[in-house]
Amino acid sequence: MNVQEKTIEYGKNSQIHISINPNFWQLCKPFQQVSKDDFLSHRWQVKHTVYGFEAINTFLRSVASSDVVEQVLLGLRLAPMAVRLTPYILSRINWLNPIADPIRRQFIPLANEYEQDHPMLTLDSLGEQEDSPLPGLVHRYPNKALFLAQSHCPVYCRFCTRSYLVGQDTHTNKKVQYEKTIKHWKEIFKYIDSNREIEDLVVSGGDCYNLSPKMLEYIGNGLLEIPHLRRIRFATKGLAVDPTKILSDREWTDTLTRIVDDARKLNKHVAVHTHFNHPNEISWITQSAAKVLFERGITVRNQSVLIRDVNDNFDTMATLIKMLGDMNIQPYYVYQHDMVRGVENLRTDLSTNVNLEKRIRGITAGFYTPTFVTDCPCGGGKRVSCSYEYYNRSSGVSVYIAPSIKSDRAFLYFDPLVSLAPDIRKAWLNPDEAQELCNEALSKVNCISSEWKNSYLNSIASLVQLRN
Ligand code: SF4
Repeated sequence: MNVQEKTIEYGKNSQIHISINPNFWQLCKPFQQVSKDDFLSHRWQVKHTVYGFEAINTFLRSVASSDVVEQVLLGLRLAPMAVRLTPYILSRINWLNPIADPIRRQFIPLANEYEQDHPMLTLDSLGEQEDSPLPGLVHRYPNKALFLAQSHCPVYCRFCTRSYLVGQDTHTNKKVQYEKTIKHWKEIFKYIDSNREIEDLVVSGGDCYNLSPKMLEYIGNGLLEIPHLRRIRFATKGLAVDPTKILSDREWTDTLTRIVDDARKLNKHVAVHTHFNHPNEISWITQSAAKVLFERGITVRNQSVLIRDVNDNFDTMATLIKMLGDMNIQPYYVYQHDMVRGVENLRTDLSTNVNLEKRIRGITAGFYTPTFVTDCPCGGGKRVSCSYEYYNRSSGVSVYIAPSIKSDRAFLYFDPLVSLAPDIRKAWLNPDEAQELCNEALSKVNCISSEWKNSYLNSIASLVQLRN
């Protein structure tokens, strides 16, 4: 089958070619004989989802060289996330060149791409467990909370910020377990009900796509009954990795629509937050699914992660923003890649983020321009990436403050080791020198308490020792 392409142009001299094959999945050998009706069925997608070591091994042997398969199998032994991929997303990978493919990079590890973790990395990099009054609920910002209704997704992203709890255990990562029953959800509703300052709730996990219509309804109704809760966001990457659900799982889509409509009658707002990172994730099926949501009056916003060699260049990011806008999906955030374990080859340094934001701003209307943010390690919350108090490109340390969240602390983000000069890289592996690099950065910020600063600096030596 010939590859049919559409050229998207924006700005001066910028264009990207997008595949628009109507039956694009038939380019992927295992799906060559799959009919349009089957491929568009969410049930079929779930039934043929590639899940676990053996299944990915079998799939890859039909589409990739033995070298690639070997590197993937070795890579999976090091990975903090299990592998799970829908036929939809597998069919968006260019299997003629999987090594360079931006979708393959996000979901399928190669052992020979691994880079040494920065010693300041932790598994729960945002310190969510510290801000959890109950398992499955993160309450960090005064008027916002995050409800982790369950811990599974239709696909698993290598770079998941919640790799400490999402998905199955892997060879290197035993996941945090917590109760995900209706009984426990009731406890969470009770907590939200008794904390009147909570106006805004993100329902995530895991992915809301994996909630059955009954569960979705139960959660939606339960939350809408809480008088002070004004806004609810259902987080799902589903639209990007299996848009067929919106088109073929009518019960789920109708339930979501009903919750949105009920909220509107109560003068409240329910939205969907989704997660596209690259234009290649978008097909005519995605566009049809997004149209259904738009026609039903459902607000959809997108949160991308900035990923090295996936979307860290102007052409790709600008195209993604344009294509999202054309689907009436608001490009809301671009996140600096979190400092999670085992995916250092996907992280960019902070300057890439700041420079890209400079180029992006102005290509379209402000309300369709994403804010580039850094979710501060250790629970500082999201800060606009360029709003750091201090950034040393040579040591790779940036410092943020979050006066409305934790006013006596600072929050440090660290560029990947590979982006630093060899002598600085070496310094990070020495506990005393690592402490000195952090001390130098913290000395530029006035508002932090000396008690917090001392305890932070003391924790660095043990963290670095642990990694060595
Ligand atoms: S869909 Fe979201 S929660 Fe699930 S693995 Fe990907 S980033 Fe993590």
